[in-house]
Amino acid sequence: MIGVVTEKCRGCRACEKVCPMGAIKIVEKKAVISEECVNCKSCLKECKFDALREQERPDPDFVICKNCGVKCEIPNGQMGACKRFTNQDGELYRNRPLQIPDNLKKDPEKIAISTPLITAVGAGAAYPDYHPAPYIVEEKIDGFDVITAVTEAPISYSSMMVKIDSNIHIGDEGAAVRCQGHEVGTVSTEQYGSQILILGGVNRVKGPHGMTVVKVMADLGNRKPVDFVVDGGCKMTLTVGKAPIINGEPDTKMRVGCGGACCGLFAKHLGKLVDEAIILDHHITGLFTKHPAGAEQLPYSGVTPLGRLATEGRYFFEHGDGWGGTNIKDPVEAIKDIDMTIARPGMKILVAETTWRKIAFFEVGEDGKPHSIPIPEELEAFRRMAADNCEDSKVSAMYYAGVGGSARAGVTVDPVKLTRAVHAGDAVLSIAGAETFVMPGGGITFLADVEKMVEEPFNYTASPAVIAPIEYTITKEKYEAIGGHMQAIRPREEVLREGRTECVKLKR
Ligand code: SF4
Ligand code: SF4
Repeated sequence: MIGVVTEKCRGCRACEKVCPMGAIKIVEKKAVISEECVNCKSCLKECKFDALREQERPDPDFVICKNCGVKCEIPNGQMGACKRFTNQDGELYRNRPLQIPDNLKKDPEKIAISTPLITAVGAGAAYPDYHPAPYIVEEKIDGFDVITAVTEAPISYSSMMVKIDSNIHIGDEGAAVRCQGHEVGTVSTEQYGSQILILGGVNRVKGPHGMTVVKVMADLGNRKPVDFVVDGGCKMTLTVGKAPIINGEPDTKMRVGCGGACCGLFAKHLGKLVDEAIILDHHITGLFTKHPAGAEQLPYSGVTPLGRLATEGRYFFEHGDGWGGTNIKDPVEAIKDIDMTIARPGMKILVAETTWRKIAFFEVGEDGKPHSIPIPEELEAFRRMAADNCEDSKVSAMYYAGVGGSARAGVTVDPVKLTRAVHAGDAVLSIAGAETFVMPGGGITFLADVEKMVEEPFNYTASPAVIAPIEYTITKEKYEAIGGHMQAIRPREEVLREGRTECVKLKR
């Protein structure tokens, strides 16, 4: 558990606020820790005055939870910091029963309306909006009379979330993303093995460079290459469905996982090939012999990597254009310290990237320092195997927008009923044939995968706005109930007979 070095404690309450167990109280301006402490070390990371220390528990009646890297010491009758497990007389039990759905069968009506009868690509629009949508068609599907109403609507509330599968640091979170010198978006938070951009948004669309903004979104959505520059970051050419080109070079492979994940995934191999491994990643760098998976293979080596400790065997590193997207340019810099009371001369230390493109091998010398040595063939064979586990990199884009405005008038005379029908699942919104995820709350704000849409779905116009193909599919009965334009319904067959159509396969 944790103890307090009373003379160093300033009574600032930082530890009290962060303790998930409520085990810290400030008494007479000093932290006091009760036996409810489970040694999660949240407070230890928070105290700026070095006033907390790990110490032995006075009561040995506890279980070390091994369900995550925190390894809480859970006293009898108590929960761990995550509140999932309770120690009952030396055994850990889950606090919640397993939740199992009992409505696995899909509602046949939902299946019938799940695919639009026609897409809106090539439909055009009715203007002004209160005229019925250009195509409102019907067909019987699985015994249900199904309606799809479509229009190509100008949407100024248009944004695009672009996912770039790459470990390369493209720029700091919040940095402006530019096209032709104009700001068209920002760098958002990273995802697992990917970098995320958020482009567009109504304020950029209505701003001085709105036409560039909508053109960029339409071009990306139509899977054309678009050049970007990130302020303080890199240059990129992005094409949806293809590998990103970053600073002139195609980045064709993702990382296997973060450094901690690599320790877990390759524990059996690494345990036979090295005495220690530091697997460099800008998110989590792994220290093999301290990582729970590595610790089962090898004793601790005495090596400490650079970086800030997250949990045992996992370290946070700084971003940069070095190894694994960190600021480490020379792999030897990743080794901060070798404790020669634990380490021994001749020990072999691997430093690797999580893409496994680059590895370096070191031997601990009599001087206690790491010395670069050649990579043995069996380690190189392992590197190739690990590198082959990297998935292909590509650029993906989710178009997200709000269509809760006047575009509804082409579908119904009672717009709020359409919004409610969409949220109730009685009307299904698709974009160029692609399924959507409709965000909860008010309005109709959705996300749709550009690659699931039919080819070249977008246009843009000078309002400025992205022109997006919008489709609503609903049963005829419910269409009438929401105030649909019943007089404008035509059989799908009739539209097909007109001949101005092209058949496409929807990606579902
Ligand atoms: S964070 Fe540190 S200094 Fe502040 S109250 Fe807790 S132990 Fe004392
Ligand atoms: S280690 Fe965790 S449980 Fe213990 S006092 Fe600190 S924050 Fe609370």
